[in-house]
Amino acid sequence: MQIIYIKEDKFQYDIHSLYKAFYPTSEVRVIVGEKGSNPDKEKDISPDDEISFIDVDKTKNELKKDIYLDLSKKTGKNLPWGDLTGIRPTRIAMNLFEEGKSDPEIYYYMKDTYLVSDEKIAVSIDIAKRERDILKDIDYINGYSLYIGIPFCPTTCLYCSFTSYPIGAYSSLVDDYLSCLEKEIDYVAENFADKTLDTIYIGGGTPTTLEPDQIRRLIGYLRDKVDLSKVKEFTVESGRPDSITRDKLKAMKEMGVTRISVNPQTMSDETLKLIGRRHTVAQLIDAFKMAREEGFDNINMDIILGLPGETKEDVSHTIEEIKKLDPDDLTVHCLAVKRGSKLFEVIREKELSGNLKIPMLDTMSDIEDMAVIAAKGAGDMGLKPYYLYRQKNISGNFENTGYAREGKAGIYNILINEEVQSIVALGAGTVTKRVYGTGGRIERCDNVKDVKLYMDSIQEMIERKKKLFEEE
Ligand code: SF4
Repeated sequence: MQIIYIKEDKFQYDIHSLYKAFYPTSEVRVIVGEKGSNPDKEKDISPDDEISFIDVDKTKNELKKDIYLDLSKKTGKNLPWGDLTGIRPTRIAMNLFEEGKSDPEIYYYMKDTYLVSDEKIAVSIDIAKRERDILKDIDYINGYSLYIGIPFCPTTCLYCSFTSYPIGAYSSLVDDYLSCLEKEIDYVAENFADKTLDTIYIGGGTPTTLEPDQIRRLIGYLRDKVDLSKVKEFTVESGRPDSITRDKLKAMKEMGVTRISVNPQTMSDETLKLIGRRHTVAQLIDAFKMAREEGFDNINMDIILGLPGETKEDVSHTIEEIKKLDPDDLTVHCLAVKRGSKLFEVIREKELSGNLKIPMLDTMSDIEDMAVIAAKGAGDMGLKPYYLYRQKNISGNFENTGYAREGKAGIYNILINEEVQSIVALGAGTVTKRVYGTGGRIERCDNVKDVKLYMDSIQEMIERKKKLFEEE
């Protein structure tokens, strides 16, 4: 364990994150006060634990740089993102661009201030330029985006961290759930009539658990109530191939959906079974081809690196199979299974693992190699990186990256990632974000996660949004 004592309650999160990045498999504990002054936090310290004392009486940047240089010397490691601990490292390049800084100025700033590697600086500048270009027609102040959450899925995947209910047990609730969404849509229609709706994203869950008529009902209601004439992108996540049918694709096309996701996560049947996705690779390929036949010319695919039992060879195989389908957009996520985590335990308990090799945090370099394989594959398909974020609370600071063909990048993905525009979110477990015009101020309000509670308290959910947008 790494124990760090600080005299004042300052920069705890940053210190913790930096230590965690250097010591991904160790517990890291930051204690405020003198040694021996905090019995609760000190009771299980052992002689093997490493203890450091840090002076926090300096600026945050100075502090982080000092810690970074010290730990780098101690461990012999350099971190690609230097001492940056936030989840949006590309934001720094974006902000500097907005201030009119040149490429070399951005380079030296990121190098000197945060010790970021040349490679990551180049990616940041590249992404920032692409984002600036994609967002140039978006009015941050007078525009808004809409998110609608459908919290039902065919089955629950083992690694799921979203709001998700198995549709089998909840199908009788769906129509009432849609009625609640309609009430929220009424709120949007009444309160955002003077704003421009730029993008719509129906996510989840799996929105394609809705039947074709339910898809028509939901989008039809939205079309009737809200002006969609300026919408630049309308995405429906059709993530699970086992939920996609030709009729649903037809319904989405008919209702004006422009972009969908058909997500393999992996092209290995064995892994799909293990992670509880209950669909096959063949089903994925069929669903993708069907979507192309129905005229969808902007299809995203999500993959996950570091799935239980997968090796670099599996990732290469997944990429080669995806190349045959030639999607327009590829999102590469990282999953690290920690020893002792719920996912790890579930796999072990179910004795599904056998001799399975589970990529662990101590094989972080495997994930890095997998990310290189995926990036190269995306490049081979003509897809370029357009957004990137790092995962919070995951040691090693793995990153998720979206790649897209020219003109096919998901605008909503950039907007939510860069937090430059308000997003009004409807449905159980969704979070509405109000971005104020100036000073980077952002306020949020959430809808309750439990689907029944959401439905019972729909009026309160609407009131929360009213309050958020009425406040000065
Ligand atoms: S499809 Fe997505 S939202 Fe649904 S259970 Fe799987 S990971 Fe969760």
